Amino acid sequence: MLNIYAVDEQLEQVKESIRRNEMPEISVSPGYGRLLTIMVKMSQASSILEIGALGGYSGICLARGLKDEGRLVSLELKEGFARIAEQNLQAAGLGDKVKYRIGDALLSMEQLVQEAETFDFFFIDADKIHAPEYLEWSIRLARPGAIIVGDNSFLHGKTLDPNFNGPGVQGIRRFNQQMATDPRLESTLIPAYDGLVIARVK
Ligand code: SAH
Ligand code: MG
Repeated sequence: MLNIYAVDEQLEQVKESIRRNEMPEISVSPGYGRLLTIMVKMSQASSILEIGALGGYSGICLARGLKDEGRLVSLELKEGFARIAEQNLQAAGLGDKVKYRIGDALLSMEQLVQEAETFDFFFIDADKIHAPEYLEWSIRLARPGAIIVGDNSFLHGKTLDPNFNGPGVQGIRRFNQQMATDPRLESTLIPAYDGLVIARVK
């Protein structure tokens, strides 16, 4: 049933470049990639902040949903990864929509607040330890009605298993809890693939 979708050549190229460069093969799942494009279109977002670029798979999915004047800012710790992501967005014809900010996303987000930047769509998908902090900064950077999406709610089942308590697992558990209970948000968790949480800032 899942392979009724045509092979997406641009995204296949991204996966190939990730393998070639020996980067981690942890791009967002294809079904959620398609969902990101649809959600950006549905929300008519014009300004997206992505936290964690890797090879540009989710970046392409997000940028595909933007209108002509829409922009994506993508935060990535590793310069080499950001460069590969940029090449992949260029190859997909989306290079002029994206700007990469290299370095620790926490610092980049603090900087964006200082620059009085705001966004109407967020995709939180960097290291899991700091996911709760990424959520706090996202809320600060959000316009009213902004959409905040977080990937990997289950962390390959670890968040559901009390035997796992590493810092990343604890980070995602806190993130999921915060997404579910923060009075500034309304949210839902989609339990397919590795889990995805979608929130709207009130
Ligand atoms: N969103 C991507 C996958 C991201 S994987 C996709 O679905 O296509 C997580 C990424 O977060 C990695 O590229 C990793 O280098 C980056 N990362 C890890 N710690 C970070 C930090 N502190 N600040 C910014 N990026 C970070
Ligand atoms: Mg992810």
